[in-house]
Amino acid sequence: MYNEKMIKLGKERSDIRELFEYAVERKKIVGSENVFDFSLGNPGVPAPPSVAAETERLLREMPAEALHGYSSAPGIYEVRAAVADYIRSQFGAPMDPALVYMTCGASASLTIVLNAVLNAGDEVVVPAPFFPEYRVFIEQAGGKLVIAPTDENFRLDATLLAPYINARTRAVLINSPNNPSGVVYTEGEIAALSQLLREKSAGRETPILLLADEPYRELTYGAKVPYVMRHYEHSLVLYSFSKSLSLAGERIGYIAVSPKCHGARELFSAVCGAGRALGYVCAPVLFQRVVAKCLGQSSDVERYRQNRDLLYGALTEYGYRCTVPEGAFYLFVRSPEPDTRAFCRRAREHELLLVPSDSFGVRGYVRISYCVPHSVIERSLPAFKALMEEYR
Ligand code: PLP
Repeated sequence: MYNEKMIKLGKERSDIRELFEYAVERKKIVGSENVFDFSLGNPGVPAPPSVAAETERLLREMPAEALHGYSSAPGIYEVRAAVADYIRSQFGAPMDPALVYMTCGASASLTIVLNAVLNAGDEVVVPAPFFPEYRVFIEQAGGKLVIAPTDENFRLDATLLAPYINARTRAVLINSPNNPSGVVYTEGEIAALSQLLREKSAGRETPILLLADEPYRELTYGAKVPYVMRHYEHSLVLYSFSKSLSLAGERIGYIAVSPKCHGARELFSAVCGAGRALGYVCAPVLFQRVVAKCLGQSSDVERYRQNRDLLYGALTEYGYRCTVPEGAFYLFVRSPEPDTRAFCRRAREHELLLVPSDSFGVRGYVRISYCVPHSVIERSLPAFKALMEEYR
């Protein structure tokens, strides 16, 4: 027999993927312009021109084996050094190239780190709402996902999180700017969490780790994203260029282990071991070189802002309830009926494809991914209006 767990995972697609596949089929029937697919966080704004310019330059100037051959498993040393320089200069956090590991995007950053740090039964505390794949990644690494609440506006509150930390807690995993709420945690919120982790780590052999999943770091509408390593020494940053540079299909990101982390070198060895065990031979080499020259850049955030403003303005006018996202490209909207899945089915009748919040760890909301062309949002508004009128 084949692996039962994997068969189940393979058959049970995530709500997001399920909708995405439905959209593909539905578009064939009613025409693509008539389906409003807000399911997937697939960046709709093109990569900044520097990405194409750098790719072309590399293809012109570098020998093929330096672009398409293997690199060492943690990545090309100059690329890791560029990332470390960037972290030092941009965030004022100490960083060593020897503690940077280039990955195939945030999913790989997450699975590698979780496999590196978890022993069977260890718990990972995650404030809700959260990216649904966290459950798959944590459980596959032998850990247990522990969902902790945030406040009524999805803000991080250390006092709400504290009761969920116990002797089995190995790490707290946060994501800011947050998918799906759009909340950006403040310096004060991160400082309070850090203080809590310090208190809860007192007397333990190994301190609790803080894992920051940051694919949306550059995608904010004015809010500043604190750098966790400046607040808490036992931190790892799990980064991806999928969203910031609109390179989701190229699979490129990195893991940065704070040099102040307890047993940082040993931890980095575990990261290398997990990368090896999971079969990540090395991250794509051409794109390692490209991103090294585009650190800190982003695709045009103004275009996401225009989408956000149009959608938020119209939906709140029609009677939907939601908070203004401070970052990322999702609107997290309260469902007008308690059964979120029933609401999503009704939305489908208007050709609106929305993701129910259940798998994000909270009930009663839907996620609308607004990284689509502006014209899709404009054309979808009558459907949103008609949908809400059914609840009046
Ligand atoms: N983490 C969060 C919070 C995400 O939203 C996503 C993708 O949507 C990922 C991780 C995975 O990103 P990547 O495509 O870089 O693997």
